[in-house]
Amino acid sequence: MQVIEDIRICRDAVCAARATGQTVGLVPTMGALHDAHRSLIRSARNQCGFVAVSIFVNPRQFGPGEDFDVYPRVLDEDLTVCRDEGVDLVFTPTAEAMFPNDDATTIRVDGVTAGLCGAARPGHFDGVATVVMKLFQIIPADRAYFGEKDYQQLVVVRRMVQALNVAVDIVGCPIVRESNGLAMSSRNRYLSSAERDRAASINRALCAAAERIRQGESSVSTISAQIREELSAAGSVVIEYVEIVDAESLAPIDTIDRAARICVAVRIGPCRLIDNVSVDDPGQAG
Ligand code: AMP
Repeated sequence: MQVIEDIRICRDAVCAARATGQTVGLVPTMGALHDAHRSLIRSARNQCGFVAVSIFVNPRQFGPGEDFDVYPRVLDEDLTVCRDEGVDLVFTPTAEAMFPNDDATTIRVDGVTAGLCGAARPGHFDGVATVVMKLFQIIPADRAYFGEKDYQQLVVVRRMVQALNVAVDIVGCPIVRESNGLAMSSRNRYLSSAERDRAASINRALCAAAERIRQGESSVSTISAQIREELSAAGSVVIEYVEIVDAESLAPIDTIDRAARICVAVRIGPCRLIDNVSVDDPGQAG
């Protein structure tokens, strides 16, 4: 497994793999790898001859007062995971190399970034889109793997790739959960066991909502109110948003009359946690 910090050397190594005819898969991460990252890497491993993982805590996607300084950085453990999963190349650039001081270039994707985390974290998706676009230049991949846990991010990346005609297939991967239903996240390690129990209410509330919709409930305000109630019943959960949006445009909807996504962001203890669940188009129900 090659571990490469330098941008040019990384691009050369990936181009050399491409030149041998291998399909290149890229899994972008911020490190502190857990089983959800493993599942993305395994999808890439199954579908591609050459698998690259990037590990970069991207300063541009953190706002002032967010957890950039304390975000977990455990490179040695991450490299063990990558070796274990048969990764071919790990790209570990420095922030200075990725974003030299004079670099004022930003990719901004409008529309799908207006609500949800885009509203709660101004500038966050500019940072995400810019770093992902840079990664696509440095690691010219055939396929890139993103988790549905960060559903808005997945939609933003798809839009960007479409708008800028980037020759990469974006592969969305299902949410991987802990045994209590909590979506895995590098930040979960900062939850106490009581907070972890409380955090299980997020997925419980989302599953209950999806079930009510399957039973025929179509009022977004009713469903949202029930989710809020269930989250509040768990105690000490600060709700940032509970939104039901069109699955593609991410525009808020009033009635479940199309494919939709229920998205939630809450704060529990030291952590901001997000989760979501898909809702099928009732018109397509079999
Ligand atoms: P991160 O290191 O948190 O930036 O995540 C790197 C990639 O892993 C992103 O595409 C995330 O959406 C994905 N990911 C993180 N947690 C999960 C999860 N619990 N289930 C599915 N994908 C995830």
